[in-house]
Amino acid sequence: MEIDYRKIGLKAGLEIHQQLDTRTKLFCKCPTLLRDKKESTFSFKRYLRASKSEMGEVDGAALEEEKYSRTFIYRGYDSTCLVENDEQPPGELNQEAIDISLEVALLLNMNPVDEVHTMRKIVIDGSNTCGFQRTALVAIDGNIETEEGVVGVDSLCLEEDAASRIETEGDAVVYSLDRLGIPLVEIGTAPDIRTAEQAREVAEQLGMILRSTGKVKRGLGTIRQDINISIDGGARVEIKGVQNLRLIGKIVKNEVVRQLKLLELKEELKRRGAKAETLIKNLSGIFANTSSKVIKKSGGKVFGVCLRGFSGILGTEIQPGRRFGSELADFANKYGAGLMHTDELPAYGISEEEVSALKRSFDATEDDCVVIVAAERERAEPALKAVLRRAGEAMREIPKETRRALLNGSSAYMRPIPGAARMYPETDVPPVEIDEQRLKYIRSKLPETFEHRKARYKEKFDLNDELADKISRNPNFFLFERIMESYENIPATLVVRTLTDTLAELMQEEIEVEKLEDLHFLNIFKLLSANAFGKEAVPDILKFLANQPEMSVDKAIEEIGLKVNMDEVERLIEGIVNSKRDFIREKGARALGPLMGVVMKELRGKVDGKVINKILAEKVKEVLEGG
Ligand SMILES: [Zn+2]
Repeated sequence: MEIDYRKIGLKAGLEIHQQLDTRTKLFCKCPTLLRDKKESTFSFKRYLRASKSEMGEVDGAALEEEKYSRTFIYRGYDSTCLVENDEQPPGELNQEAIDISLEVALLLNMNPVDEVHTMRKIVIDGSNTCGFQRTALVAIDGNIETEEGVVGVDSLCLEEDAASRIETEGDAVVYSLDRLGIPLVEIGTAPDIRTAEQAREVAEQLGMILRSTGKVKRGLGTIRQDINISIDGGARVEIKGVQNLRLIGKIVKNEVVRQLKLLELKEELKRRGAKAETLIKNLSGIFANTSSKVIKKSGGKVFGVCLRGFSGILGTEIQPGRRFGSELADFANKYGAGLMHTDELPAYGISEEEVSALKRSFDATEDDCVVIVAAERERAEPALKAVLRRAGEAMREIPKETRRALLNGSSAYMRPIPGAARMYPETDVPPVEIDEQRLKYIRSKLPETFEHRKARYKEKFDLNDELADKISRNPNFFLFERIMESYENIPATLVVRTLTDTLAELMQEEIEVEKLEDLHFLNIFKLLSANAFGKEAVPDILKFLANQPEMSVDKAIEEIGLKVNMDEVERLIEGIVNSKRDFIREKGARALGPLMGVVMKELRGKVDGKVINKILAEKVKEVLEGG
């Protein structure tokens, strides 16, 4: 689906959270080490419940969390201390973390604040033992340049990472304290992003700038992105927890598609005069002799509602792998109830007769959709009420909400969008003054800027302005340098084109290039440098490896049928030359061009043109010299 993002009024902003690779945590001297959870040496329990007085006005997000508030169990280690346990007040702000944040701020053309103040932001999901997260504003008002214009960078904060949720034990949620207190920078852009492509570029540039400091943690889980997205007539939706920067473009696109589809469904429902009836019926009687395992598992308890005029709507796909029914199911799942509906039934062991009986019990016509959950009344009722609420919204508007990123680039409902976080001063932590001396020193040690890198590439690799510009802005610039410095006879232009244009084209074809790793590229160019195949085959090899990333490059080349035996190549060329002896004698050296065309037809992509040309020229020479 091709989307004109400007026409539909896309507005998006990113929020990036990156762990810093400091020696110690933000407010204590513990190391910033993630531990094997089996090495936990102690644990303790807390009951955290947000009371109205604590929260001031309770917002939607808080209320939602409160419904699930539980007991929390925390696992500690010999590498955590009383600060993580909330048994001792926090120490002073980590100076190394402040320096790194200032460095990032300067690279983003931001203005650092005069004094860094630590604030408390209330969290009630148990992810912090003290019931709030500490955060400190370090800089404001920066920007980054993209190919599609400047994007503002509103704020950069230094924060403590939360405890990581590892499992549940009965009704209790278990958190691990190793991650709690690791310094994070949180960078928020303005909602200036206008296309999915630009969102990806901003994410990549931010990632590149962070890595260029050499002082951020690397690997899965060390960087997390949230994206705010809205379109004209749609709603602001926040998608949380994207761990792979390369997925950003896909996520933006999929959310735009979701909102466009929901707007279409809204019009369709209006046209049909659809109505979500509030009557919840006990339908257990229909399933007294059912063979459905799902229903037997719930003790035969089934409750349902009728959505008038919704037939076919729940079965409509609104994102890859997700239908409108999945949106409703997200709400039922919040209450631990699975959802089934007549758009997809009979299925799950539910028979044709049972479906007819369901429809009859509501006097449903073929325009209606009956939604059921198999659960006891205490769970089924709130689940179905939530489903009715969401179905009702579908006829009016797209709800503002916070969603959870899924691995395929789609997303699922998480909770209502939170109001602006209320902040309170953290009186235990003294403010830190940022003086000019300190900034001057950090400025003098900033990593290479993009402009400098571009000039260096033009000089060193003889790249033209366009290609030098392209690769020095690209997050793969480091990989480019590594390839160029590792292998000989590889043209810089080919490497740049591969790492930029070719990858972009493959992405257009919906190839999952995010599965490709540096090692894939390194090995491709290593083999290319050894003339194992022709450069024309690089896109095909990448495509193949993206689909089967575990396969070695060597094996992939063999599978595609590119692996050639040079003796055979020589024999093939010899054969062609022999069959054209008269032609060669007649044309002399000018026969080389036409013959090259004939040979390349056979060997394109398998053997480099230059290599073929060399062999062919030798063979032609032999003929002309009377061989
Ligand atoms: Zn500690």
